[in-house]
Amino acid sequence: MTPKVSQGVTTVVAGNCGISLAPFSGRNDPPPPMNLLGTKEWYRFERAHEYTEALEETPAATNAVLLCGHSSLRASVMDGLNRQATPAEIDKMIIMLDEALDAGFVGLSTGLAYSTARAASTEEVIELARVVADRGGIHTSHMRDEEDLVHEAIHETVRIGQEACCASVISHFKVLGRHNHGRSRETLALVQKAQRDISLDIDVYPYTASSTILLKKFINEGEKVLITWSDPHPEMAGRDLHEIAAEWMTSIDETIDRLNPAGAIYFKMDEEDLKRILASPNTMIGSDGLPHDKKPHPRLWGTFPRVLGRYVRELGVLSLEQAVHRMTGVPARVFGLKNRGTLRPGACADVVVFDPQTVNDTASYENPERPAAGISLVMNDGQWIWRDGKPTGATPGRQIHRGAI
Ligand SMILES: [Zn+2]
Repeated sequence: MTPKVSQGVTTVVAGNCGISLAPFSGRNDPPPPMNLLGTKEWYRFERAHEYTEALEETPAATNAVLLCGHSSLRASVMDGLNRQATPAEIDKMIIMLDEALDAGFVGLSTGLAYSTARAASTEEVIELARVVADRGGIHTSHMRDEEDLVHEAIHETVRIGQEACCASVISHFKVLGRHNHGRSRETLALVQKAQRDISLDIDVYPYTASSTILLKKFINEGEKVLITWSDPHPEMAGRDLHEIAAEWMTSIDETIDRLNPAGAIYFKMDEEDLKRILASPNTMIGSDGLPHDKKPHPRLWGTFPRVLGRYVRELGVLSLEQAVHRMTGVPARVFGLKNRGTLRPGACADVVVFDPQTVNDTASYENPERPAAGISLVMNDGQWIWRDGKPTGATPGRQIHRGAI
C-alpha cells in the first residue's frame, strides 16, 4: 500500500468499475478488464467472505472499504458475457451479492463500458442495485460511455438510482475525446439536476489522461497513447503506441493485437473540464489507481498531493479546506464510514501531517512511481504508518463496514 500511504491515504475503496477480486475464481485467466487486477492466481476467492477473512489474516497499512463488482458476478455465473443475464443467472448473482453484503461489502460497482458488462441491460443492474439499496448500500458506476454518449450514460446511471432507490456514485467523472471538450458544463448540470431527486455523488482524479486496458475503440487520430503493461511485450511498458507501430512497421490495429493483453494511458481530456469538475461542490477525490501495472499512470502515487499542490496552491481552483474535505469528510459520508473523515475527540485518529507550502506530486508519466513531497507523517487509527519518508511497517488496516465504527 506504499503508493497510497505515501500520499496520505488511510482508507482505500476497492473493487471499483465492476471489477473486484472477490467473489470470483476461475481456472483460466480472467477476461479483460478483470485482468487489470491480476492473473488467475489473484482471483482465488470464490466467495466474498473468503476474501475478507484473508484480509483480516494479513492486514494492510490502510483500511479497506469493499465493493462487489458486477463483472466479477457475471463472470462467476455466466458461460458467456456477450449477452444479458437470464433471470436464473440474476438470481445467482443476487445470492452472491447478498453474501458479499453479509461479509461487510458496502455495495455494488458496475462498469457497463467494458466487454464483460456491456451486454447487460439497465434492468439487470437495477435488480442488483435494489438488493444493495435494501441493505443501505451504495452503487458506484463506471458508466457505459464517457465519450460521445456521456449524456445518455448519465441518464442511465440516474435511472438506476431512481428505480432501485439506491445511493449512487459516478466514478472518475470526465468527458473524453477532443470534440467533447467543454461538455462538462452540460454533464455537471445533469448531475446537479438529478441530485434534487436522488442521492448522487461523483469523484474525479486530477489528470487529463485516463488509463485502462488497451482498446482499439479508444484510439483517436492525434491523441497520445502510452503502454502501461503488455503480457507478450513487457519491454514496451512506458512506450508510445505510435512509436512502437513505427518501429515494428505495423498498423495501429495490428500493433494493438500484438501487444494485447495490455494496458494503456490515453490523453483525451481537457484541463478546463477537469478544473470545472474539481471546483464543483462536493466532488470527491479518488485515484482510480492501478497497482499491478508495470509502468502505471502517475495517479496511483500522485492524486492527492497533486490536488493540494497544483489545483489548490498553484491554480487556486478550490480552497485547501474544500480539497481536504473532499478527500476525507465527503467520502466518509458518502460511503457511510462512521467516525472517519473528521478530526474530533472520539473519532478514529486517521491523521496526515503535511506542509501546505510544499505538498506536491512528484510522480510523472515518465517516472510514475515516486512518493509525494511535503507529507511527513501519516497515522491510521492512532498508529503511524508513514514516517521519515518511508512506511513504518505497521499494518493497523481493517475492513470498514458501512455504518460500523
Ligand atoms: Zn473505471
